[in-house]
Amino acid sequence: MKKKLPIPSSEPLKLDLTFFSVEKRKKVKAIMKIYRDIDKKTENFRQKTGLKCLSGCGECCHDKFVSATTLEMLPLASATKQKGELDAWITQVDPKDKHSPCMFFKGEKNSSQGYCQVYEHRPLVCRLFGFSAREDKYKKYELMVCRKIKEAMPEVMEKAEAQVDAGKRHAPLSQEYVMKTFTLSLQDGGDSRNINHAFAKAAEIVQLQGRLFASSTTS
Ligand code: SF4
Repeated sequence: MKKKLPIPSSEPLKLDLTFFSVEKRKKVKAIMKIYRDIDKKTENFRQKTGLKCLSGCGECCHDKFVSATTLEMLPLASATKQKGELDAWITQVDPKDKHSPCMFFKGEKNSSQGYCQVYEHRPLVCRLFGFSAREDKYKKYELMVCRKIKEAMPEVMEKAEAQVDAGKRHAPLSQEYVMKTFTLSLQDGGDSRNINHAFAKAAEIVQLQGRLFASSTTS
């Protein structure tokens, strides 16, 4: 039976990673550093250009093909463990449905309007959804922006594009962060899968490492 989930808090959470093995903790910290770097660059770009996601828009979250690696989901699994919500989330995952939309999106039925319940600890792809940059074969930066944003703010978009073209502003470079995350995830033995399934896998690891840590501290 599915457990009732608590209302999410908007307070930033200081993650307790002490229950992880030293090696795993290093990887979780490395992935969290990637997230912080992206957020910093995204925020900087947003402030300088005005380009931003539309309020209440969950168009990307609605997609059935949002995927992540287990490692990318470890910060979130750790956060839910810390908040005592891990079991409640696990019960939401349908192991047979490999293309289920993200369960962390809270929206009205059949609507893409809503919000992410786990924003602070969302995986890589969610941080690059709205806008990011890519480098073409001539090493020239090109801005990539979601269709909804383009349609809603064409003038802001044009200005931001012109600044990127002129080399004045840099949105997070998607290839750089995808490659860093891919390398780290590969070292962790992880593959990419449906976001809910990746969470379930990460939750298993968190539970196991939590039990090992608890038994090592009581023996
Ligand atoms: S984790 Fe959050 S941002 Fe990412 S797809 Fe799910 S609801 Fe959307």
